[in-house]
Amino acid sequence: DAPGVDDVRIAMTQEKTALRIIAVGSGKGGVGKSTLSANLAVALKRLGHRVGLVDADIYGPSQPRLMGSEGEKPEAQDKQMFPIQSRWGVPMLSMGHLVKPGQAIAWRGPMAGNALSQLVDARWDGIDTLIVDLPPGTGDVQLSMIQKHKPAGAVIVSTPQDLALIDAARAVSLFEQAGVPLIGLVENMAGYACPSCGEVSDPFGSGGAEKAAGEMGMPFLGRIPLAMGIRTASDAGEPPAAGDGAEAEAFRAIAEQVAA
Ligand code: ADP
Repeated sequence: DAPGVDDVRIAMTQEKTALRIIAVGSGKGGVGKSTLSANLAVALKRLGHRVGLVDADIYGPSQPRLMGSEGEKPEAQDKQMFPIQSRWGVPMLSMGHLVKPGQAIAWRGPMAGNALSQLVDARWDGIDTLIVDLPPGTGDVQLSMIQKHKPAGAVIVSTPQDLALIDAARAVSLFEQAGVPLIGLVENMAGYACPSCGEVSDPFGSGGAEKAAGEMGMPFLGRIPLAMGIRTASDAGEPPAAGDGAEAEAFRAIAEQVAA
């Protein structure tokens, strides 16, 4: 028998349920949440997962630049968008693909929630894991993510200093209260190796995030060093996780724990 419309509908529903959403959040901006999201997606892809990337940082979308897909426009059919195929084998969607670069997005909460749904409810055919880069903080987009899209887990990013960790704790408690499992905390911008002498210093302190993760009762997933190469590769649209240096190794180690 040829499949009928109902069979196709059931198949689509099953596919949708199979999508494992992993939300990446932070207490505040500039700590490397978008950098981690992009590189986590690429590292998971290299581990053999069928992973997609949603840039839900809809007020400041940076994934098109990080993934080298600036200027591309998603196709749509029956009000559903098709993800853009990035060069890294990770299909993606970002508000940045729908507005002109640098264009200000001034939406109120409900509209921002709708925009998030458009990105998450796109045609993620064949994808099993969706990494969602949330805006910083604990606002409307986060709430609508939690209530409507029920993430399978959340990864929180922080820099090592106390102030950033206090903000991170706020993001952690938002997910905790909503019953979203906390996959763990990643410490970014830990330890800076001087490019000329090689000496490692800790501009933001060290070990703070691991200790804080312990206090919050969540796993510590690892640290990413503050490295010039991460910034330059990211700006060039080449996620370091796609390379073969020490940074790719650090992102792979985190991806393995997120996948476990
Ligand atoms: P967020 O999403 O938290 O606002 P981003 O991922 O956009 O933060 O990172 C902010 C800036 O810091 C970017 O220019 C990025 O390239 C840089 N950056 C992030 N992580 C690192 C790192 N580990 N080493 C060097 N630069 C980094």
